[in-house]
Amino acid sequence: MSETVFLNGAYLPRERALVSAFDRGFLFADAVYEVIPFYAGKGFRLVEHVERLQRSLRAVAIADRLDWAALCEELVARNGGGDQAVYLQVTRGCEAQRNHRYSEGLEPTVFAYCYAIPAALEGDPERVAGITATLIDDIRWQRCDIKSTALLANVMMLQQALTAGAQEAILVRDGLLTEGSACNVLIVEQGGIVTPANGPFILGGTTRDLVLELATADGICCREEAVAVERVKCADEIWITSSTRGIVPVLRLDDQLVGTGRKGPLWARVANLYRQFEQQVRQA
Ligand code: PLP
Repeated sequence: MSETVFLNGAYLPRERALVSAFDRGFLFADAVYEVIPFYAGKGFRLVEHVERLQRSLRAVAIADRLDWAALCEELVARNGGGDQAVYLQVTRGCEAQRNHRYSEGLEPTVFAYCYAIPAALEGDPERVAGITATLIDDIRWQRCDIKSTALLANVMMLQQALTAGAQEAILVRDGLLTEGSACNVLIVEQGGIVTPANGPFILGGTTRDLVLELATADGICCREEAVAVERVKCADEIWITSSTRGIVPVLRLDDQLVGTGRKGPLWARVANLYRQFEQQVRQA
């Protein structure tokens, strides 16, 4: 966990980073965030993360005033570089009264800290353990493309999965796959990758996009389209992707094995491409 954090323009010891209880982030979850991995002190898909943060800020009309990439790089450097993730949150700011209606021109509250992470594939796809998942009704709102800190539904759905004995929730809205509680979901069918297209019901994942980019460049057929839940149940492989977890195979879905119940061949191929990409970032 970082010793030095960023709060409202200052780099501070973590115990001095205090925010008002009247902050709209606290009262309304009126805030957006990002989680950005750094390997060997270098930002991983940093441009894409910053662009997504800016899209989120624009979508909720919170002022976008800082050089986010420079902030993250400085924070990681001040905390010794290496392999870390930056958590960056921007709230609409603080007001004297709790009121749904916000005043124009508030000064956003900006908080960032970083914490050590393992390399997404721990340097070796062989060592990645698969996970179990369960299908859960997606109870979220209709702007899941905004990376909002309002994650109560995600917390509840993950907890429902954990209570059912699974490690991840795979979410279904109106019979269609959306994503995971904190990850995207891709399936393998007939030797190709299929995943829901970006839109209001999923968060456009940077890892998802990178996986599609690497797989396409390697000649693997990738399709972005609506995926009925029945296809998920019959998929040869199911993967989840996120910045801090990389690409993780799902080996069991509810009471059924996925494919053979072992990490699949396409996963191994794409995981290797991903590891090579990560190594290039480290060495750049
Ligand atoms: N979907 C949701 C709901 C998430 O919370 C996340 C990451 O936190 C993702 C997808 C994956 O996004 P990324 O690959 O950019 O980490």
